[in-house]
Amino acid sequence: MKRLLNSAAALLAAAAIVSTSASAADTSFLIDCNNDKCFNTADITAMSDFLLNNGSEAKDITGDGVVNVFDLVALKQYASNYNDKMPSGLWFSGTDKEDMVFFWFNNANGSVTTAQNGNRITLLTSELKDGVLRSTADTGETSASNLMWVDDTHIDLYIDVEDTVRRLTYCGDTQDNCEDDLSGSYFTSGSYGERYFNIDGRCGNFRHYQNPQFADYCYTINGDTITFCYADGTVKKAGFQRTDRDHFSVTWDDGVTEKFTRRKFTKEDGLTYVNGILIANKSYPLPSDYGPGELTAETQLAFNEMKSAAAGDGVMLWVCSGFRSYATQSSLYNSYVARDGKAAADAYSARPGYTEHQTGLAADLNYADNRILSTPAAKWIEENCWKYGFILRYPKGKENKTGYSYEPWHVRYLGKENAKLVHDSGLCLEEYLGIDSVYR
Ligand SMILES: [Zn+2]
Repeated sequence: MKRLLNSAAALLAAAAIVSTSASAADTSFLIDCNNDKCFNTADITAMSDFLLNNGSEAKDITGDGVVNVFDLVALKQYASNYNDKMPSGLWFSGTDKEDMVFFWFNNANGSVTTAQNGNRITLLTSELKDGVLRSTADTGETSASNLMWVDDTHIDLYIDVEDTVRRLTYCGDTQDNCEDDLSGSYFTSGSYGERYFNIDGRCGNFRHYQNPQFADYCYTINGDTITFCYADGTVKKAGFQRTDRDHFSVTWDDGVTEKFTRRKFTKEDGLTYVNGILIANKSYPLPSDYGPGELTAETQLAFNEMKSAAAGDGVMLWVCSGFRSYATQSSLYNSYVARDGKAAADAYSARPGYTEHQTGLAADLNYADNRILSTPAAKWIEENCWKYGFILRYPKGKENKTGYSYEPWHVRYLGKENAKLVHDSGLCLEEYLGIDSVYR
């Protein structure tokens, strides 16, 4: 196994794997009567010889202070349970994220997967004979390492070249699914309150970064189960539900379901991006001098495509109001305040610096008022705009999230992938990204 482990390690940034050391007092060494760091029939022979005064190697298996026939019985019992018993299912070992490895044993074949990045070596053959596990990888590499059972859920692999032992802990009988990459920064909601996690790697470090007590652990997902493997050998299972690219839920063993939302803020020249999406709402204003001067080229192209598609359905679309500068919004907003008062104006119009129109990524289509509802355009936009990379930015029923009244005419360009995700989620943009929209 050593060479396979080294191959796995070579896939990591770290040059070599630092193995988990098991102490000499551990069970796997107790049954090693002849001290060759391997368990096989030679150990029973050594014990028998010792009891017949023909040998000098034996261990006090029962721990009663003397070596006698009861130790031989215990050793034989161990042998009947574990001698050349091939492990099966998913196992992991390692003490930190650089070091964590998953082993999958499925009859004669299996795999070795580095937890941090999910890189995997396939084992074509594995055979345990006379206490030695011999494997051949699909790379053609072969390995041999001594395998000793500690108990039903722990085994030690002794790697003789390095004189180290890798302790493996049983995780479950189904293979990990390293295809599911949860990497990112998350905030959570649920009855634990809001918590923050950084997930690094496909099966990598899953750290609650406000709570330093949380040890490094890796995770593996199979179907609706997520298994957390802690550095101390603890294995914890929880319910898992993937909602979409940016959301999943974990149901802990106390029954609490915690909803994870991927959310990464970046600030650039006074602009706020969340997961790469430029935000302009009541919480995240734009600098007064920011503005592309017109709809961005990408937005205009997407609108043209949408307009053609709508025309094909007999629906006319036109841009009533696209880009608006800080100065334009300023005079617009002030005129609304003069007419209706500040509170009323804030419900339907953005203060200067807070309008999405200043991004060049938003447009009011046809009539920028409720007249649009009596035309087929409103329904068409709501049902189809996501296909062209737009979302209806201020949907009905989401007024307390977006901070704005329902606007069936206002669309925001996000690109096709993000628009589809937001549309399919049934959430408004604020809910999808886990942000608010409140003047402060
Ligand atoms: Zn608008």
